[in-house]
Amino acid sequence: MFEPRLLTAHNPGPMTGDGNNTYLIAGDGGPAVLIDAGVGEPAHLRAIADALAEARARLELVLVTHGHRDHAAGAPVLAAAYPAATFAKLPWPDEDHQYPVAWRPLADGEVLSAGGGSLTALHTPGHSPDHLAFWHEPSRTLFTGDLVVRGSSVMIHSSRGGNLAEYLASLERLLALEPARLLPAHGPVIDDPTAVISGYISHRLFRERQVESALRAGRTTVEAIAESIYDGLAPALMPAAQENVRAHLEKLKAEGRASDAGGQWRP
Ligand SMILES: [Zn+2]
Repeated sequence: MFEPRLLTAHNPGPMTGDGNNTYLIAGDGGPAVLIDAGVGEPAHLRAIADALAEARARLELVLVTHGHRDHAAGAPVLAAAYPAATFAKLPWPDEDHQYPVAWRPLADGEVLSAGGGSLTALHTPGHSPDHLAFWHEPSRTLFTGDLVVRGSSVMIHSSRGGNLAEYLASLERLLALEPARLLPAHGPVIDDPTAVISGYISHRLFRERQVESALRAGRTTVEAIAESIYDGLAPALMPAAQENVRAHLEKLKAEGRASDAGGQWRP
């Protein structure tokens, strides 16, 4: 039975919801693997220590899904507490230097031993350029980092390395694996992955059609397009909506379906 332990990173906030999920995979008495480092909260470190003691396991490997703070910032604190542990992620040179540990670089398709079994690293960019999901084939369990959050949508910051076209391709890649459950870095476990991932994809394509019709209706700025689509949205959420519209416009531009000149967009 493959039962990763969910250990919350104890970092609730506006961007993290109830806080990040990290997952400990510990075979009895053997080496353990932690997925995502959290932010170094003392309560998280205590929970890791307790879970390791209970499983009589030692922390050997910390796999980080991507270089956003809430997933990676705890690495140096963990490295101090577990000097024998290896820290691994797909490199993102612009961001990784903020978390000074000796990162072992991971690549797409790499197979890592974990709690008596193995995990395959899958490069799944879009939310961030370095994003990895980790696939446990025997149980068809997928650790999905920030690719999917139940009941919410995922931010694609096109100005910070996000790419909507890549994100959609990554979702298609997850779907093709036919996973039985997703263990995300935020929110509850997803035990109906096909429905949730397909829903994500069709929602994005619906938004894309809305952005295209707003362009054809003569709306030329990100702000005007966002206002026409997200009519009545709380003002505090408008910047996120605009970021989303920008991600769609960049995708349409890359596909030759829109162009911009000085912030003025045209179909
Ligand atoms: Zn993220």
